[in-house]
Amino acid sequence: MSISPQGAWEPPQSQPYRPMPVIRDAGEMLMHRRKILLAGGSVGFVPTMGALHEGHASLIRQALLENNHVFVSIYVNPTQFGANEDLSTYPRTWEADMKLLKELNDECVAEAASDSPLRSYRREISAVFAPTTDTMYPNLPPSSDPSGHGSFVTITPLSSVLEGAIRPTFFRGVATVCMKLFNIMTPRRVYFGQKDIQQTVIIRRMVEDFHLGIDVKIVPTVRGSDGLAMSSRNVYLGTRRRKTATWLYRALKLGEEQYRNSARTRRDILFPTLNLLNGTALDQDQNQDPTDKACFEIEYISLADPDTLEEVEEVDEERGAILSGAIRMLPLLASKPGEDCGVGEGKSAVRIIDNVILEPLVESE
Ligand code: AMP
Repeated sequence: MSISPQGAWEPPQSQPYRPMPVIRDAGEMLMHRRKILLAGGSVGFVPTMGALHEGHASLIRQALLENNHVFVSIYVNPTQFGANEDLSTYPRTWEADMKLLKELNDECVAEAASDSPLRSYRREISAVFAPTTDTMYPNLPPSSDPSGHGSFVTITPLSSVLEGAIRPTFFRGVATVCMKLFNIMTPRRVYFGQKDIQQTVIIRRMVEDFHLGIDVKIVPTVRGSDGLAMSSRNVYLGTRRRKTATWLYRALKLGEEQYRNSARTRRDILFPTLNLLNGTALDQDQNQDPTDKACFEIEYISLADPDTLEEVEEVDEERGAILSGAIRMLPLLASKPGEDCGVGEGKSAVRIIDNVILEPLVESE
């Protein structure tokens, strides 16, 4: 094995890439990491809950561009699911996930064999970490009860607003599992999707406050051709609710357009956004045909500071802002024969979250 002048692995062209190891044990993962560290390889880490789609793939591709080794974790973390949430029914698609990861690795092998300037670096998904809950929570059973016992990481007040106001222990669960995973993986860089923007703000704060020395990279949201942000939970929507759900992003884009057209105040940015969304909700409510309507509730529309997540009255051009929202697609009341109502026959509510970043317009001094 040779090392390039930049210290990166050079893949001997005749040597096939090793199969992607699936590691379930934290000790084994730490050993694997240590070997890579001693050999000088950089590690990028992509935490996921599985049910992988193109959104996850885009994070992994970005990580493969920037690191020699990419670790992907697949773990449905119980402490971030509230008592009435979908932990037991969260989609689990192990075979398809492994197929996608293998395809992403094959893309890298193809790249290594091509004339790409990146070909001299060894780049691969070199571990899939899929721990059990006993591994991740070795002492007490995982609790998502606000007063439950356990070792938790809490990042306040960021975790109490927006999504955190609706799902009180969600970010305690996210921060806790990420801290555990970061300690096991000790990555140089971690990759998160803009789609879950509050999560990215909280992880950045956690990394800074606990001096973890990790680069937090944010990858743009990947969308379907209809504009809906990809999400593992979209399979529950079905065709009718999916079509209506796309209005959240359209409404946020309208707010962004106001900003681009010089609107700066909360009123000028949020009024058209809320107007469009309220009008869509009303149209659905007033539709008399239960086999045709897809009703939803608006949970929040927020215009917030990008670091503190405090609501702003006026966007500071040096800081920009985050325009985000959440709607709750309600269960279908009735269906047409043969209609695709999604996994679960449209019987459960589905939350849709989305955001646009209002970029700073002037550089801060
Ligand atoms: P999850 O498996 O839902 O926990 O997501 C794992 C990571 O993938 C998180 O950082 C998400 O923000 C990211 N992600 C999920 N959906 C998308 C998407 N549509 N575009 C970009 N990133 C995404």
